[in-house]
Amino acid sequence: MHNKSIMALGAGLRAGDFSSVELTRAFLDRIAQYDGELNCFITLDPERALTSAAAADRLIRSGKAGPLAGIPIAHKDIFCTDGVKTSCGSRMLDNFIAPYDATVVSRLSEAGTVMLGKTNMDEFAMGSSNETSYYGVVRNPWDSSLVPGGSSGGSAASVAARLCVAATGTDTGGSIRQPAALCGITGLKPTYGRVSRYGMIAFASSLDQGGALTRSAEDAAVMLQAMAGFDHRDSTSAQEPVPDYSENLNAPLTGLKIGLPKEYFNEGLDGEVARSVELAVDEYRRLGAEAMEISLPNSELSVATYYVVAPAECSSNLSRFDGVRFGYRCQEPKDLEDLYKRSRSEGFGAEVKRRILIGTYALSAGYYDAYYLKAQQIRHLISDDFRRAFDKVDVIMGPTSPTTAFAIGEKADDPVTMYLSDIYTIAANLAGLPGISIPVRPVAGKPVGLQIIGNYFQEAKLLNVAHRLQQESDWHRALPTGY
Ligand code: GLN
Repeated sequence: MHNKSIMALGAGLRAGDFSSVELTRAFLDRIAQYDGELNCFITLDPERALTSAAAADRLIRSGKAGPLAGIPIAHKDIFCTDGVKTSCGSRMLDNFIAPYDATVVSRLSEAGTVMLGKTNMDEFAMGSSNETSYYGVVRNPWDSSLVPGGSSGGSAASVAARLCVAATGTDTGGSIRQPAALCGITGLKPTYGRVSRYGMIAFASSLDQGGALTRSAEDAAVMLQAMAGFDHRDSTSAQEPVPDYSENLNAPLTGLKIGLPKEYFNEGLDGEVARSVELAVDEYRRLGAEAMEISLPNSELSVATYYVVAPAECSSNLSRFDGVRFGYRCQEPKDLEDLYKRSRSEGFGAEVKRRILIGTYALSAGYYDAYYLKAQQIRHLISDDFRRAFDKVDVIMGPTSPTTAFAIGEKADDPVTMYLSDIYTIAANLAGLPGISIPVRPVAGKPVGLQIIGNYFQEAKLLNVAHRLQQESDWHRALPTGY
């Protein structure tokens, strides 16, 4: 049961082959069996899950249920969930019970999904390995000595190990696509503004975007359908109409123009990962697509640009955690200043503090023009590169990550090396473009992700391109041994 698609499970539920309560119990049992080792979940709420499963069963019996009714999913612990702890992977919010649901959460629950729990993540979504979480590292189900990627590491590992059918995630610089790649699953980061950020704890507001981690592109289409759309509570939410994401999954790819940016196949890329990407592109050629080399000349500046913009925005966003209104408060503060200082020093971990320091510095008087403004200008150049590329091609392909999953601890003390694991994903965030990572040929038993970037609001095209490969190959069906 745990290895079935949303469509297949939905059909089984509607046919009465099993109930959502049974399905939910099966996943809760798997979590009990495997999560001690994997550490995917920060919070589990079996009672609540079974109550909503029973409600979903009633909805299904009434004949009014949509495709997600009764499907057990998990939410990244960055999404506020009414009455349930929402920690954002931080000691700062270890005691925070959200008083409302994020729009993503309310839309998915209106669609009838069952929330199993909240998944582990890098603290405030800052990281690429899930090692910065206050709740400890998540282990990669393909090899428990390896990281699952981050920051949506708990979501990715739980989908890969089939501890839930699908999970939500957020992507500021790669945090959906990179862990999806390292865990061998499908990860979709929509266009900036496609999915509401309301109730999604802010890291870098001009980059953050919610999306889905799933077994397949077909499942991602169903998840996005429920999540996407205008929300008046998010001022950057797009008014753009929401198409039917499942309708054109099988559209033929004849004549599809694929751009391969030469900057994405540089010396930092592992040779075998490059080979896996080339093999996937060959498969697309067989499906009728045409691939050509393109150039995104400013993409080499994307990591440096991101590490000014993202910390600057985070230093501002995280100033609300001051020990006064909510979150962690230090013991017996001497005065107000001591309260601020100690609550923040004790509540935040090292990586978060590093970002706040960098961001505050970059925004300070005298440095703003040299750093933040300059970074915003380069951001424009990066977007222009993509605009020019999309005049010539329909989609851009390349690796999601330069290597397969690395060992736990390997990069933890070397922030710059860690930052480079997002070298191919960050540019799409700076430009606000949608991207998807899908599993292709593994290397030495470790998953590899192919990244497909599309033009604005072309999620349906990305899903179509991803789905066609998944019709021709079995990489996305592979299960880590033991699960
Ligand atoms: N790894 C990147 C960072 O540490 C991206 C994180 C994200 O997308 N949330 O900032």
